[in-house]
Amino acid sequence: MPLELTDIGANLTDRSFSRDLDEVLHQARAAGTTRMLVTGTSLAESRAALALCREHGPGLWCTAGVHPHHAKDWDSNDYQQLTALTEDPLVVAVGETGLDYNRNFSPPAQQRFAFEQQLALAAETGLPLFLHERDAAGDQLRLLEHWRERISGGVIHCFTGDGETLRRYLALDLYVGITGWICDERRGLHLRQLVTSIPPQRLLVETDCPYLVPRTLRPRPRRNEPKYLTHINEQVAALLRVSPEQLAQQTSRNAATLLGLPPL
Ligand SMILES: [Zn+2]
Repeated sequence: MPLELTDIGANLTDRSFSRDLDEVLHQARAAGTTRMLVTGTSLAESRAALALCREHGPGLWCTAGVHPHHAKDWDSNDYQQLTALTEDPLVVAVGETGLDYNRNFSPPAQQRFAFEQQLALAAETGLPLFLHERDAAGDQLRLLEHWRERISGGVIHCFTGDGETLRRYLALDLYVGITGWICDERRGLHLRQLVTSIPPQRLLVETDCPYLVPRTLRPRPRRNEPKYLTHINEQVAALLRVSPEQLAQQTSRNAATLLGLPPL
């Protein structure tokens, strides 16, 4: 049986895919990445993500939201515009949203405002959250803890934090997305140890393509693609001492549960 992997973090509206998206999707499916969640990072990108899913499906769904980097562009119409987008059945999560104090492309106060607006949107629509966080765990956890009872669920995507942060996200019953960061022999070491403490039913895998090319890929490609999820899946499976088939099945089932996708 071929693998059936679900890439919960694919930035397929990125310019680097504009010329050969059909070939990228063909190769992804041939490699076993049969389901992908296309990330929306602004109102315009969320619309583009939905259009892409309609045109290039089946097996494609998307998020609708405003990334913390773009929080400074949040305007008073965004809540309503995003709500309208979430009415489409292909939009299965609110995000990418959260806080990123690593480089503060948007001022922290504006990031918190846009995040709370999207927490309210998730509460109102019943959709799960697709969460991003970097160097902002304290504020992010505080807001999530405040809203948790009203939110159906969520995934903290591209998790790279420490053990205590992981424990608190898991205590909120959130899913955890693991990227090719785990293949990084310098930065990913702590994550290789932490991944074994994530309950199997809370684990998701993702490429975050075209970013985060797994450092153990040979030859090294110029951009990351959904087809390389097989490589990340193998690395995580080895750490967990399960077969790649078992992990693919588990994480795809988890994604279907969280996002309300049809069963595999
Ligand atoms: Zn992100």
